[in-house]
Amino acid sequence: MSFRATILTLYPEMFPGSLDLSLAGKAREAGRWSLETVQIRDYATSKHRNVDDTPAGGGAGMVMRADVLARAIDDAAPADDPRPRLLMSPRGRPLDQQRVRELAAGPGAVILCGRFEGVDQRLIEARGLEEVSIGDYVLSGGEPAALVLLDAVIRLLPGVMGNDASGEEESFEGGLLEHPQYTRPQLFEDRPIPEILLSGNHAKIAAWRREEAERLTRERRPDLWAAYKDGGK
Ligand code: SAH
Repeated sequence: MSFRATILTLYPEMFPGSLDLSLAGKAREAGRWSLETVQIRDYATSKHRNVDDTPAGGGAGMVMRADVLARAIDDAAPADDPRPRLLMSPRGRPLDQQRVRELAAGPGAVILCGRFEGVDQRLIEARGLEEVSIGDYVLSGGEPAALVLLDAVIRLLPGVMGNDASGEEESFEGGLLEHPQYTRPQLFEDRPIPEILLSGNHAKIAAWRREEAERLTRERRPDLWAAYKDGGK
């Protein structure tokens, strides 16, 4: 089974973009995932092919029209398409590694990229879109957010990462940030690699990494630390 992504956008030329380089690009060539873009403007019916209009109630900017988007979505993903329908949105639930893992285990995703002031609320409700945010800041469009989401998902697909074990020790996977990493040279500008990592004592190394992961999480991410402790792990 291969992961199928369908992106609805006004800028299809932004895809696959960076996703065609590196591991994700190789994985696409190998058929582990596929990408289809849909130009939303192709579904506009007005003479000037408008996809947006002024906000009801007044105010600045433009809003993407529900009718145009509905046609695009229904054509790209009919009602019986099992893939989740996502809307990239700063109002959405913040994306986390758990949701990324769930998506990677599924058949794919249909992803709507907003522009302007966003999309008509009725479209979100009528098509049951899941709003997904990539953080508490505002982008000019959903495309970079969709690239971020796909990058995180694709690296988890079976056979994509060279060393599958490295996925399990990473930041967030155990509810903690990852421990610091070191490699050669042994001495860099008077800074040695922590002695213990060169000791060859695997149990001590594992304990040190664990302590460092807990320290970093406590210091930098009180939110993750509280959840980790509540989880009783
Ligand atoms: N007026 C809106 C912001 C619109 S930004 C508001 O204040 O909520 C335009 C588009 O960029 C959005 O429709 C969304 O698709 C995308 N976008 C912006 N910030 C995002 C974020 N943090 N996460 C995901 N998508 C985002």
